[in-house]
Amino acid sequence: MSSQIVVAVDGPSGSGKSSTARGVARRLGLAYLDTGAMYRAITWALLERGVDLDDAAAVAAAAADVVLRSGTDPVNPTIEADGVDVSEPIRGADVTSNVSVVAAVPDVRALLVQAQRDAIRDSLDGIVVEGRDIGTAVAPDAPVKVYLVADADARARRRASEQGHDDADATQEALARRDHLDSSRAASPLTKADDAVLIDGTFLTLDEVIDAVVALVEEARGR
Ligand code: C5P
Repeated sequence: MSSQIVVAVDGPSGSGKSSTARGVARRLGLAYLDTGAMYRAITWALLERGVDLDDAAAVAAAAADVVLRSGTDPVNPTIEADGVDVSEPIRGADVTSNVSVVAAVPDVRALLVQAQRDAIRDSLDGIVVEGRDIGTAVAPDAPVKVYLVADADARARRRASEQGHDDADATQEALARRDHLDSSRAASPLTKADDAVLIDGTFLTLDEVIDAVVALVEEARGR
């Protein structure tokens, strides 16, 4: 029997998913996949090509042409689109404000879900996968599913400080807009899987959240 473990970490923007998922993967020696980076990299490539993002058919056709490569080392996660290292540009305002529109296109999701399942299959010991639909759509059989939340203030403060400023109000508005788009789209919207464990990180340190997820993995391994 395979001892591969799949850990799904979903939740809204800025809830601490990335730091948590990377931390858990490092602690347990597992691979790590940032699926948000994949949607961002496709968005970056479409913006580079001047594709009209409101034209879902054009978005789907162009997205199928983009060659994506995601590195799954949690110490140094990498992401390339068409051979270009896009790890920095995908964090820019342009990509961030357009990514939810691209991610709502069903054909784009189908492409990326397939690539994500391939990465899960290829991870030998197991993988921590972070996103919005991992527990519900990408890996519904994952033995560990976490839905990470934090209150809006905490999320905005965290994101603003990551971006090197303290305008938490503007950040809170941008996060709320993206959450609304991600939760209200027809194709695999952001939602908690029924069997996911809800963790509210508002009053926890990062290490405490990582501890909680590691405990869930240990419990699943013992089952
Ligand atoms: O996690 P991150 O903020 O980088 O995700 C960027 C965007 O990618 C999200 O706002 C969402 O629109 C999309 N996304 C998604 N499904 C995932 C991961 C991300 O739709 N599994």
